Amino acid sequence: MNCPHCDKQLIQRRVPTELQSVLRSEAKSVFLCDRCLYTQPGELSETTAQAMFTEIPSFPEGERGIAVALLLGRLNQLALNRQSAEALCEYIIADGVDIYLLIDRIIENKSIEPHYDLQRRWEQFQSWAE
Ligand SMILES: [Zn+2]
Repeated sequence: MNCPHCDKQLIQRRVPTELQSVLRSEAKSVFLCDRCLYTQPGELSETTAQAMFTEIPSFPEGERGIAVALLLGRLNQLALNRQSAEALCEYIIADGVDIYLLIDRIIENKSIEPHYDLQRRWEQFQSWAE
């Protein structure tokens, strides 16, 4: 399946059980686009193993990476997703990831072209969290 925004091939990953409860979501997998940050819940079918966000130095592997991708997807519709975005952010930080540095790197990276204004949404999210 290709991204509806930028036509890049979507990466599909299993959502770890622990994250399903953080998100209060039954979705077993997520489709994500590592160019424009689109995400979409999916059924558990064939997950892909290719690395995501290879342009971003020290982008976390495994479950942490999936949590970051899910957070990026939720920042888009922040008003609807504020609770789960905050829960994800706490989960990511508790797991030892410097999410502030990571999102700065994503904002600065020219090969990533978010389909929404990531910088603005991230600033808004942080101002709420204060
Ligand atoms: Zn895309």
